[in-house]
Amino acid sequence: MTTLNEKYLGKVLPYLHGLDGGECKEKIFRNGLKGYEFPCPFCSDCQSKPKHKRKRVAYLLPHKESFSWTFFCHRKQSNECSGDGKSFHNFLMMINPTLFQQYLKEKDPAAFFRQYRDANYKKYLS
Ligand SMILES: [Zn+2]
Repeated sequence: MTTLNEKYLGKVLPYLHGLDGGECKEKIFRNGLKGYEFPCPFCSDCQSKPKHKRKRVAYLLPHKESFSWTFFCHRKQSNECSGDGKSFHNFLMMINPTLFQQYLKEKDPAAFFRQYRDANYKKYLS
């Protein structure tokens, strides 16, 4: 059975090749698990040379036995991709907020509902 993370990974993969003829490739990491390498969606755009725009500097590193990934960029040339890596959850939120909302809804419908209810309360109270 496909997990929710895998389902949403499938939805974002088609966008990870970037806009300049880059590629998103499967990669088997040291733990023997499948991850991906691709041009960084956050800092490839600010590279001046096409070769550098296409360069696969970002990874989705597979976690053992959890069907999840950590996003990591080697170049770290934007605020979004600097730091120690991001959970799949955060990566999804940054790369596609609409898809992220669907993900939350599917993951925990009650929490999703509460989040909107609370946001609406705040609106009425302010
Ligand atoms: Zn980057």
